[in-house]
Amino acid sequence: MRQKLVAGNWKMHASQQMVTSLLEKMLSKQAPSAKLLVFPPYPYLSQAIQILAESNIGVGAQDCSQAEDGAYTGEVSATMLADLGVSHVLLGHSERRQYHSETDASVVEKAKRALAAGIIPVICVGETLAQREAGETNQVVSQQLTPLVKQLSLAQLQKVVVAYEPVWAIGTGLTATPEQAQEVHAFLRSLVAKVDKALAEKMLFLYGGSMKPDNAASLLKMPDIDGGLIGGASLDADQFLAIGKAA
Ligand code: PGA
Repeated sequence: MRQKLVAGNWKMHASQQMVTSLLEKMLSKQAPSAKLLVFPPYPYLSQAIQILAESNIGVGAQDCSQAEDGAYTGEVSATMLADLGVSHVLLGHSERRQYHSETDASVVEKAKRALAAGIIPVICVGETLAQREAGETNQVVSQQLTPLVKQLSLAQLQKVVVAYEPVWAIGTGLTATPEQAQEVHAFLRSLVAKVDKALAEKMLFLYGGSMKPDNAASLLKMPDIDGGLIGGASLDADQFLAIGKAA
């Protein structure tokens, strides 16, 4: 049985005041049975880690450098994140692929750095609307996931989480239907099963793209959907916890 995971990607939204009020509100309510994670922007990681120290809500970063510590102005290394107490890192989010030249190759390198530092990579994959309409969804997500499956060892892959996020559903209010999402999740799991069946059974595949309290339950009850990666709704404690409860 895979434990459900519900992760909040705050993107570039935060202030010290917002971090305190959002997290304290979350802590004041009854915790859902799903494991919860939040991904604040870099400057707020320490603050979030401090507030959540006595809770079982984990804190992740939204990216890490492909390089080790060194002369890379503006970069943040996986070892720094581990030093802070960060447990997870998002890699290959479509916004980073689109605006920051993230490639499948850099995602693999970053995943290796994260794993070496003891951080769990959450790898995001997903097709654009044009790719879906052209019937290329499986081909696209396969191209995104396969380099990782080929280049990481079995021991490394055991720590990886995958998030399927159709680009056309992110921040648009459009959601994949539970059947559409399930189909891609099952396909992704089958790619991992080609390498190792037991690993595929254990690996977590999250769905992301306009997941909200009113559509979460129908998505999360699908057999291959193991949780959610939540953008907009994770900035509201009640909505985020409601999704956690639906999981
Ligand atoms: P959304 O974002 O829930 O606002 O669509 C999801 C994501 O980008 O991770």
